[in-house]
Amino acid sequence: MSNRTLTQAFGGAAQLEDEIVRQEDREENVGSTSKSPACTRSPTFTLAQNGSQLYNITRVWKTHGELIVGYDFSSAIARFWPGEGAMSDKSLIEVRDITKVYDMGDVQVHALRGVSAQVDEGELLSIMGPSGSGKSTMMNILGCLDQPTSGEYYLAGVDVKKLNDNALAEIRNRKIGFVFQTFNLLPRTAALQNVELPLIYRGLSGRERQRQATEALEMVGLGDRIHHRPNELSGGEQQRVAIARALATQPEVILADEPTGNLDSRSGAEIVAIFQRLNRETGITVVFVTHDPDIAAHTRRIVRLLDGRVVADEPVENPQDAEATLAAILAEGEEEEE
Ligand code: ADP
Ligand code: MG
Repeated sequence: MSNRTLTQAFGGAAQLEDEIVRQEDREENVGSTSKSPACTRSPTFTLAQNGSQLYNITRVWKTHGELIVGYDFSSAIARFWPGEGAMSDKSLIEVRDITKVYDMGDVQVHALRGVSAQVDEGELLSIMGPSGSGKSTMMNILGCLDQPTSGEYYLAGVDVKKLNDNALAEIRNRKIGFVFQTFNLLPRTAALQNVELPLIYRGLSGRERQRQATEALEMVGLGDRIHHRPNELSGGEQQRVAIARALATQPEVILADEPTGNLDSRSGAEIVAIFQRLNRETGITVVFVTHDPDIAAHTRRIVRLLDGRVVADEPVENPQDAEATLAAILAEGEEEEE
């Protein structure tokens, strides 16, 4: 089963949205306890358009004023999005001839020298390249944390250059979840409140914020650690809190700059397993930087940077399964202990 916002899943087909709303009303009329905020209904019904069955909807709930549906991939989805339920050819990120020059007074550092690339919805890709090749500069621009010196960036079709500061903050909060190598958690604050932070701008009640943050922590397997502070968690767990924080706003893309760079191989594999699972089950787009070819081998596409340029951009033939990698690492560890 997978969740997507309706507009994502149906490309904004208002007709379908109406159908869901009506179904939802009906559910409410049936007398479900509409007081409890989320996931109150677990109907199974079929969404049809032009007489042909589209989806078996298994769950509907409303959050941030958006309808979220959980639907069963086994239905007619393949007709619409061939290839494992991934969204095809809908561009989420498109950069054209991006340059970035850091002006250091007497020297100018050319960090990016004309990068063009496109990332479609539902992709899972890694960016590789030696230190200083421009990976972080690239990620900061993609994450709207920095602006290019020249070139164009379209995020979900929106020309980022045309946005004022408020609109930029809004699009960053709505569409992007950013994960850093060094986690960047508030040190004296519990996991739950760290994850709640990006939700504060949403005008949600404290209780609703807490519920969504708890759900995000559960998604990364930390449901039993929500009251731990960062220094009471391992590095891998801290990074999972950071991923939950990135997920809390239900962004369309996770951008992660060397998320496994500070972690041992087991914790690294756990992080990649989370990315794979999220990508598979929710269709969220994931782009992360790594210098480790073993980690990159778990993605479906690798973009290589060198001296501020894209030198390769290729699909991965047989992406590794992170769960299997993890199992192998654990088995190895047990052998060593014996
Ligand atoms: P990577 O992440 O691949 O190691 P970066 O994007 O961090 O590469 O850096 C690319 C180049 O830009 C490097 O030469 C780096 O020294 C330079 N650079 C990065 N950030 C800044 C900055 N804020 N000011 C000046 N130079 C920078
Ligand atoms: Mg870097």
